[in-house]
Amino acid sequence: MSLLVVGTVAFDAIETPFGKTDKILGGAATYISLAASYFTKKINLISVVGDDFPSDHVKMLNKHHVNTDGLQVLKGQKTFFWSGKYHNDMNNRDTIATELNVLENFNPVVPEAYQDCEFLMLGNLVPAVQQQVIKQMKTRPKLIVLDTMNFWMDIAMNDLKETLKMVDVLTVNDAEARQLSGEYSLVKAAQKILAMGPKYLIIKKGEHGALLFNKEQVFFAPALPLEDVFDPTGAGDSFAGGFIGYLAETKDISFENMKRAIVFGSATASFCVEKFGTENIVGLTQAQVEDRVQEFVDLVQFDIALV
Ligand code: AMP
Repeated sequence: MSLLVVGTVAFDAIETPFGKTDKILGGAATYISLAASYFTKKINLISVVGDDFPSDHVKMLNKHHVNTDGLQVLKGQKTFFWSGKYHNDMNNRDTIATELNVLENFNPVVPEAYQDCEFLMLGNLVPAVQQQVIKQMKTRPKLIVLDTMNFWMDIAMNDLKETLKMVDVLTVNDAEARQLSGEYSLVKAAQKILAMGPKYLIIKKGEHGALLFNKEQVFFAPALPLEDVFDPTGAGDSFAGGFIGYLAETKDISFENMKRAIVFGSATASFCVEKFGTENIVGLTQAQVEDRVQEFVDLVQFDIALV
């Protein structure tokens, strides 16, 4: 069962307390696809880049089982560029620049060969573009997951709310959940957001883990305490990629299986933050991923006998 990933493929320039990069490979769809590739081998990508985008990056994605037939390359145009800076508290970052470039007039086209995708991951992107992709699917996917960010809440809230009515799962961080709902309590925020359309909500809390809500239940998974955190960029997307990659492979979209998917998502995110950019989620072995998941299991397992 294949997975369709839509989102940015980008150049990023990142500064953290541990160093600074020039333009390196980034983008929500890049992180999602790479992370998902450790769980499922049939990944279809829809995105857009300019002709300044190196073909080596495309080859690397192909090696990770990512079909790039849906990656538009626009002649004479520049790839989306984002730059961000993290301070000592790496749960928060400042966006220094967002240059939309090719994204400004992006018209996503779903190739005929992608129409059978049953899992759709809409990575962070212009909400109206995310919506266009859903509308092009001749058969509604079994599960549609949407990620978004404060940037789109600031400039395209109405479009975002329309798009929310069409998806099954929303992933946002805690600040974004508060902004979207106008509620400080994450429990109240979740109930308001679930009333906007999605059946499930994932609230990412950076190094403090992630919460999964539906109307009746809540589940929490911690983040793995790591010795080295160099760069949190892409953590949210790697989380989403691991989450949907696992669901697409197991084909089970129950709340119970989503709990497992959250642990697999947390495992891929934990690799991502250990080095800059995508460096640490390229070329991992299956054994490395399995060991990391085992660390999660060991972290949270305990016996309590209640009388
Ligand atoms: P994350 O750290 O998981 O939120 O994702 C970081 C990635 O999101 C970076 O690689 C950026 O290229 C990409 N990104 C940043 N701003 C935007 C935006 N406004 N729309 C889409 N993608 C973005």
